[in-house]
Amino acid sequence: MMNMLIFGPNGSGKGTQGVVVQKRYGVPHIETGVIFRNNIKKETELGNKAKAFIDKGELVPDALTVPMILNRLHETDCKSGWLLDGFPRNLSQAEALGEALEEAGMKLDFVIEIILDRETAKKRIMGRRLCAEDNNHPNNIYIDAIKPAQKDGKPVCRVCGCDRLTARADDQDEAAIDKRHGIYYDKQKGTLAAVNYFRARVPVIEVDGSPGVQEVTQALLAKLP
Ligand code: AMP
Repeated sequence: MMNMLIFGPNGSGKGTQGVVVQKRYGVPHIETGVIFRNNIKKETELGNKAKAFIDKGELVPDALTVPMILNRLHETDCKSGWLLDGFPRNLSQAEALGEALEEAGMKLDFVIEIILDRETAKKRIMGRRLCAEDNNHPNNIYIDAIKPAQKDGKPVCRVCGCDRLTARADDQDEAAIDKRHGIYYDKQKGTLAAVNYFRARVPVIEVDGSPGVQEVTQALLAKLP
């Protein structure tokens, strides 16, 4: 049984690596963003309240987020452990989680931190191109290992060679990316402050997020207990 947190900026591949960790330990992968999006889709009271903040790229207030996550940790499937992803996102959430775990007699085993500098994280997001043939064909104009190929002077999918490569609209919203990264890289009160809060308490497994997905997975698996 393992209780874990995973941290990493948007663009670091945290979602992908989170699935690797979840499978390794057979625990529920609790993604705050996914819970919010499900609530918005179902138009629950929580979803309706959270939507305005999410649409602006702001954090949903702690008063809504913290109880939602703490309740989730008390559901039956969490008895075998859990992996929290997207929470805590700031120092006050970290403190609330630390206190709640102590009160509930739950132990956090370790924290995973995927490290990637802000400039690279931003390029990863903005450089991503989707192939119309297959979503899983990786193309990124800023990453040499997965740069689109060229045909007649035009970029084409590096896997299937089709010329229908597009950028996702929200990947091109530079202001939104900057806002999210501003929260993540803030060491005073933001997500990196939350990482440091736990660094003082439990082991932090640091993984360099700059190589390709498979290399990061290998490095991560080699470090996990
Ligand atoms: P994500 O899918 O993790 O990028 O989250 C999408 C949005 O949900 C974020 O931009 C926030 O508005 C909100 N959100 C996710 N996690 C949290 C959190 N721990 N605290 C507050 N808001 C959050």
